[in-house]
Amino acid sequence: MTDQTMQFQSDVTRLLHIVTHALYSQKEIFLRELISNASDACDKLRFAAQTEADLWAGDTELKVTLTPDKAARTLTIADNGIGMSRDELVSNLGTIARSGTGEFAAKLSGDAAKDMALIGQFGVGFYSAFMVASNVEVISRKAGETQAWRWTSDGSGQFTIGEAEKSGRGTAIVLHLREGEDEFFEPARLSHIVKTYSDHIALPVVLEAEGKSETLNSASALWARQKSEITKDQYQNFYHHVSHAFDDPWLTLHTRAEGKLDYTLLLFIPSSRPHDLFDPARKAMLRLYVRRVFITDRCDELVPAWLRFLRGVVDSADLPLNVSREMLQHNPVLARIKQAIIRRVLGELEKKAGKDAEAYNAFWESFGAVLKEGLYEDPEHREVILKLARFRSSQRDGWVSLDDYIAAMKDGQSAIYVINGDQLEQLKRSPQLEGFRAKGVEVLLLTDPVDDFWLSVVRDYAGKPVKSASRAGADLDAIAASADEKAPEDKPSEAAIGTLIAALKQILGEAVKDVRESKRLTDSAVCLSAAEGDIDLHLERLLRQHQKLDAVSARILEINTTHPLIRALAARAQQPGAVDALADAAQLLLDQARLVEGEAPADPLLFAQRLARLMEKAL
Ligand code: ADP
Ligand code: MG
Repeated sequence: MTDQTMQFQSDVTRLLHIVTHALYSQKEIFLRELISNASDACDKLRFAAQTEADLWAGDTELKVTLTPDKAARTLTIADNGIGMSRDELVSNLGTIARSGTGEFAAKLSGDAAKDMALIGQFGVGFYSAFMVASNVEVISRKAGETQAWRWTSDGSGQFTIGEAEKSGRGTAIVLHLREGEDEFFEPARLSHIVKTYSDHIALPVVLEAEGKSETLNSASALWARQKSEITKDQYQNFYHHVSHAFDDPWLTLHTRAEGKLDYTLLLFIPSSRPHDLFDPARKAMLRLYVRRVFITDRCDELVPAWLRFLRGVVDSADLPLNVSREMLQHNPVLARIKQAIIRRVLGELEKKAGKDAEAYNAFWESFGAVLKEGLYEDPEHREVILKLARFRSSQRDGWVSLDDYIAAMKDGQSAIYVINGDQLEQLKRSPQLEGFRAKGVEVLLLTDPVDDFWLSVVRDYAGKPVKSASRAGADLDAIAASADEKAPEDKPSEAAIGTLIAALKQILGEAVKDVRESKRLTDSAVCLSAAEGDIDLHLERLLRQHQKLDAVSARILEINTTHPLIRALAARAQQPGAVDALADAAQLLLDQARLVEGEAPADPLLFAQRLARLMEKAL
């Protein structure tokens, strides 16, 4: 079979263009990327061989070798891991398989300086080889197969694939180094790079040069070493390796339990949101090892979805080495480790929150929306999560905890008030809040989609009921007025109000559940509220958007009897023919209340016609 030439996927071509033209100053990271891939390939082999021992084929010492050849101007990075079939070479190296690299490509701006910074932030995996090589050859033989394949490319638009000879399984990457990259032939330079970036790799990285062979790294699992022997840089490089991310970890938690259960945790919380944090799959990302042997990085039994931002390693001594994926489900050992992880992580978060509020808030900003999923998924930890939660407030800037809120409650206030919406700025100006603001009562502003869900299960915190400010019956009367509250202006008589309400109810009919005098409005004429026991306004809208609900519940229309418009309507309602005369105004009031909530008018065409009639009269 002759060699075949194929085109890179267009994203890869764009990426390669940047990489090959990069004047990136830390080119040596290509070695970190290729060693990281080699180490992953060895982990995969070890896992596959648990169920298919033949894959070892007598070669059980997994390692990565670096072979510089100055005469041939090549540097070869070889492993005896899982290897790649022809199809895998084509798809893994010809397209962007990893979503992180895809996101990198999507972010490329064409501005060299900006794009360069992105290389540092994301790492570009395999393609970083083209920063130093004018031509890259990948010779690979998949474990269990006899045919090897050669993939070659000069990093322009295409690559070539064809048959090759290779004695054992695994992958050899031959870099034909560019002029000016001679430093990567030097054993001392290679040794320094490996010690800097890849010391944590758990298998030997061996340099074969000048007729000698020398292991460059510690080649022991980092998490199995003593904490005191690990530097901050080593933790950080390890974090980069396991997370495929290049930020600094916000939290590093390294601990070991012995006794009834024997396990080691090396966990990280990233400082910025991973790009796939809100993927519907909500996958856990921890790597599971059994006595230092990699088992899987797809184990949802280890951490709940609401802690899916955790990265790192769990190494258990209590599971059998030949554990299968099926055995991991409903496994009592994992269930206990999971509980321990939850306890440890929540405990660390509490500590951080107490020690450094600013740093904690930065964490909350990135991951609070995920942690709050635990409020309805995990009643057992609800209390702690509520304590850790931070909120935006109608009364102050920054983040507020529920304990802060309670400390600032007004005399006579018995509940914690919250309101849901899509956008913070819109919520801050909501008419629903007018009465609260007039009394100086704080309302927590909730804008994460998850908020609607936990509010339906969290009834109270520290003995205080949690209530939606957009509900009828939020009783503000009991709360002492603040000094600057406006005295109610002239109000129509009780009788006049009664007549107006009766007329509005008659006109609006089924479209409203009730019409009531509002206790919460001070500036706006009208607003909607949900009856006690009815679905919350914002939740209803959210469910409708997601096609989970199609009915629209009738709401209570609250009217502000101190508002000039309502006063004028009350006066008109006293005269004969009120129901006909007020028909347009009543419908428009209801539509106006809906608009402010972010809803569309019930019937946009009728709305426009009524508005036009009213404007015409006014002119
Ligand atoms: P990532 O490692 O994040 O997946 P890379 O660009 O570094 O992204 O590598 C792309 C893919 O190529 C890997 O996911 C893997 O499937 C494959 N690959 C790269 N190097 C090797 C190797 N040495 N052995 C086996 N597969 C490899
Ligand atoms: Mg990689």
